[in-house]
This record gives sequence, structure tokens and C-alpha cells, in this order.
Amino acid sequence: MKKKKLALHWKIILGILFGIIAGIFFIQFAWGKEFVVNWIKPFGTIFINLLKLIAIPLIIASLIKGISDLKDISQLSKMGMRTLGIYIFTTVMAIGVGLILVNVIQPGNFISDETRTDMLGTFGGTVGEKMLEVETVKQQGPLQPLVDIVPENIFESASSNGNMLQVIFFTILCGVGLVLLPEDKSSPVKKIFDSANELVLKLVDIIMLSAPFGVFALMASLVAESPSADIFVALGMYGLTVLLGLVILVFGVYGALLKFLGKANVMEFYRKFAPAQLVAFSTSSSAATLPVTMERVEEHIGVHKEVSSFVLPIGATVNMDGTSLYQGVAAVFIAQVFGYDLTLMQQLSILMTATLASIGAAAVPGAGILMLVIVLESIGINPAGIALIFAVDRPLDMCRTAVNVTGDAIVSVIINRSTGRELTPTAEDMD
Ligand code: ASP
Repeated sequence: MKKKKLALHWKIILGILFGIIAGIFFIQFAWGKEFVVNWIKPFGTIFINLLKLIAIPLIIASLIKGISDLKDISQLSKMGMRTLGIYIFTTVMAIGVGLILVNVIQPGNFISDETRTDMLGTFGGTVGEKMLEVETVKQQGPLQPLVDIVPENIFESASSNGNMLQVIFFTILCGVGLVLLPEDKSSPVKKIFDSANELVLKLVDIIMLSAPFGVFALMASLVAESPSADIFVALGMYGLTVLLGLVILVFGVYGALLKFLGKANVMEFYRKFAPAQLVAFSTSSSAATLPVTMERVEEHIGVHKEVSSFVLPIGATVNMDGTSLYQGVAAVFIAQVFGYDLTLMQQLSILMTATLASIGAAAVPGAGILMLVIVLESIGINPAGIALIFAVDRPLDMCRTAVNVTGDAIVSVIINRSTGRELTPTAEDMD
């Protein structure tokens, strides 16, 4: 009889648990932290690098394949409009959930004066650096983000994972060109990208074999390097508000969208998608997780390639529901701690700016808190207030990143359905 193998998501969960245990174990010794940083952390970095390594090739290969398979360009623009529409809808829903919760729970009232002074003192310096980074963003004109999407040199863009949107732009352009070319001219190029796409997905499979070890190393080093547990307790109510919001978003809003618009089985979706959520959780980066998200959605959940190859890379950069929910909660929380009573107009302004900020946020660790500066300034609150939430940002970042990638996957299922397709998984599935 064939031995039943442990499903991938269980292996990753074990990796996370053992990583936390190892981290706690090593910090008991004076030499422990250094040991973890020197001998365990590098394997986590290698895992993230491996994922990032294939992100750009994957976007290029799969987008060109996806778009060039379309019958005509109108299909693309229809899908594009729908995708953006649903992305904005889910983002606004997410911020709405966050704002309602933070107003009902009022986590700001649970903070003692002592904690407030402590946090502002400890993290004031780091905030200064972050604000400088934001200054450069703000000095640009209103259309700069649009200008930034169009690269002047594709090799330069493709040489950095931070330029994902530029690469996407160029690739969509190539895909459109291929659709417009006569079949005999376009088919050789299409064939190359077809097999390149298969190759990259195979590479994802290979890299995922190391996922349990990669997340083990990431978690162990995170625990070894994290600040003391007291801070988490002091900011507990704020953290819980964000977490509760994320749970409502994932099981309430997403669950309903999946069921009614995507016509999909919710539990089965989450079971198959879990490895991507766990990788997002461990890496705190939607961009690094993109290869896993795509592999899961295409091969295991069964979204058609034409849809997933378009919806997911764009989603990784522009659709961050977890981040926007958190920005809503964090902005109001900081206002509460400072003793401001926000008006409805101010809260609506949070909704607007947080939507834009989550679109503008890079898909990397800590990007959300950077953009929070802009949200705070829009309602006239001193952005130095982010010092209050710095200490607990990493664990929340991990959770919101898992939600960010989930949102993208859900939208791809909905778009798949709206184009009249069924879910057709290709992978032998036991995960
Ligand atoms: N780390 C998040 C992501 O990559 C962005 C953020 O909220 O900081 O999706």
C-alpha cells in the first residue's frame, strides 16, 4: 500500500512551530541569538531569495502566455476593468471592517500613559528615518505613480524586484502585440513562453520542497531577534483589533465572495491555498510569495491561466486588503491614543487615503507602516505616532501579508467565474 505523505501545508506549519520553539530555546543562552543569526537565519534568507529569484521570470512567462492566448484585445480590457473594480471593492470593504471595529472596540483607550511615553521614546528615532523615505514619495507630482509604471529600459526594470509594475506593463504590451500579430508570426514566440511558463512553475515546485526548512529558519530568527513580550501585552488590544478584522475579512467577506460570486467551495479553497498563506506569513512579502500564489491558484485551485497570470501579479502589487484594513485600524488607534475624536469626514478621508496607500505600498515587509504616514497626515495627526505601533508591527505584518495574498487569489477565482470558466485543477492534489 502506498504510504500517505504529509500534506505540504502541514509540513510548513510544523516548520513554523519548530522554528518558534528553536528560537525560544536558543535565546535562553547568552550565545543563542548570535548563533541563530549566524547559522540559522541565512537559510531563511536563501529561501526568500529563491522565491524572489523566480518572481520576475514567472511574471514575464505567465503574463505573456496568458494574454497571448486571448482571442482578442477586448477580452483583456474587459477582464482588466473587472479586476480593478473588484480590487477596489475588496479594499474598501477591508478598510470599512477595520474602521467599524476600531470605533467599536476603541483600543486606544487601553493604553496607559506610561506605555505611550515609552513607545514614543523608544521608536522615535526609527520613525524619523521612515519619514524621510516618505518625504521623497510626497515631493512627487500627482501623476508620478502613472509615470513610474512606464519603464524607459526593460532590462533595468527587470533587474530589481521593486519594479514589478514596470515589468508587468512591458509584458502586457508584448502580450497585446502577440495577439495582434498573425498566427504564423506569433506562434514561435508563444511556444517559447509556453514552455518557459511550465519551466518556472516546475521551479516553484522544486523550491517549495525547501519551504518547511525555509520557514523554520525565518521563524527561529524572528523569535531570536524580537523585542520583549511585554510590549505585545501593552499593545494587545490594538493587535487583537487588527487580527479580529483580518479574521472577519477572510472568513466573512472573502467567504461570501467566494461562495456567491466565485461559486467555489470555501473550505476546499482554503485547504488548497494554505501553503501560499503560510509562506506569506513567514516571509511578510506578497512579492516573494507570488510564485507560490500562482502555482497554488493555477494548478491546485484550477483558475484558468489566462486569468491568473493577469490578475495575480497585478494583485500582488496593487491589491492589499490586509494592509488597508490595518491602516484604517492603526490610524484611528493612534488618534485615540493622542486623544483626538475623529469626525466622520476624517474617517472617510482615511478610507480614501488608505485605499490609495495600499495600492502604492510595495509588496515587501514593513511597507504598510511606511504608507501609514501619509494616511495620518491626511487627517492632521502627527505621523510620529507610528512609533506607538512599531513594536508589534512585524507579527501583524505577517498576518496582513497572508490576507493580502488571499485577497488576490479570491479575486482570481471570481474573475475566472465571470468569464464563464469552471475551476479545473491540474495538479495531483493531496495538499
Ligand atoms: N508586507 C506586506 C505585503 O508584502 C505589505 C505591508 O503591509 O507591509 O503584502
